[in-house]
Amino acid sequence: MLALSPTDRLFFLTGAGVSAESGIPTFRGVNGLWRNYRIEEVASPHAWRRDPRLVWEFYSMRRRVAAPAKPNPAHFVLAKLEQKLQDRLFLCTQNVDDLHEQAGSMRVVHMHGELFKSRCDRCTRTPFHDTTTYDLPAELPRGDCGGRIRPHICWFGEMPFELDRIFRALDECTVFIAVGTSGVVEPAASFAAHVRGRARTVYVGEEEPANVSAFTECHLGRAGEVLPTLFCA
Ligand code: NAD
Repeated sequence: MLALSPTDRLFFLTGAGVSAESGIPTFRGVNGLWRNYRIEEVASPHAWRRDPRLVWEFYSMRRRVAAPAKPNPAHFVLAKLEQKLQDRLFLCTQNVDDLHEQAGSMRVVHMHGELFKSRCDRCTRTPFHDTTTYDLPAELPRGDCGGRIRPHICWFGEMPFELDRIFRALDECTVFIAVGTSGVVEPAASFAAHVRGRARTVYVGEEEPANVSAFTECHLGRAGEVLPTLFCA
């Protein structure tokens, strides 16, 4: 069990490892979704300009993989903990799936966007729920303004969402817990170093992350097994 005081404020950063036990492959894992694709050809503004069909093929495949997935004990522990701690818990995920929400988490900040949302690449239309898979040779979708409908995802080279809110929460937290993230993708990889010295920094995951030196505690194991032992929510 992780000893917590009634005034502690928890910041959770979750990564692909949290959803691995739900059957969604991680980024770098052996079954990585990205194996058959070059990242720069499917997940960047340049890729979108060059070959939007290939981009939609990739995100349609990811929608198909994520659609039947169900939350695992790691997602449920975090949802229960939020019920108990309310706004003393901040949940920031790099994941684009909706498994935290399916488990009951109410205030999830998706810094890298959401797989089941799309938006227009030209106008300011609000991102909207979209589970469609655009199988080729189907026409690529367009909005009323004539712009192309794109996945609501933060691609490499784009600014992650809600960074102001995230850094405010980082500055307020007393315990920072990263779960199932390899500590490579920036800026999330630097969050632990940002709070270290002022807050406890805890890592939970199958193996040591690349930024392990920024953590004061490391609990190695599967998120769905370790989190319930650390937090009996
Ligand atoms: P990553 O693939 O780089 O790292 C995953 C980490 O999870 C690894 O360190 C691995 O050891 C660990 N892990 C694997 N199985 C685990 C388990 N059962 N329990 C605990 N830990 C486990 O992922 P990342 O650091 O999140 O960065 C990848 C990027 O790819 C992110 O930007 C994310 O948006 C995207 N991505 C998202 C999803 C998703 O939404 N589910 C899936 C793949 C990739």
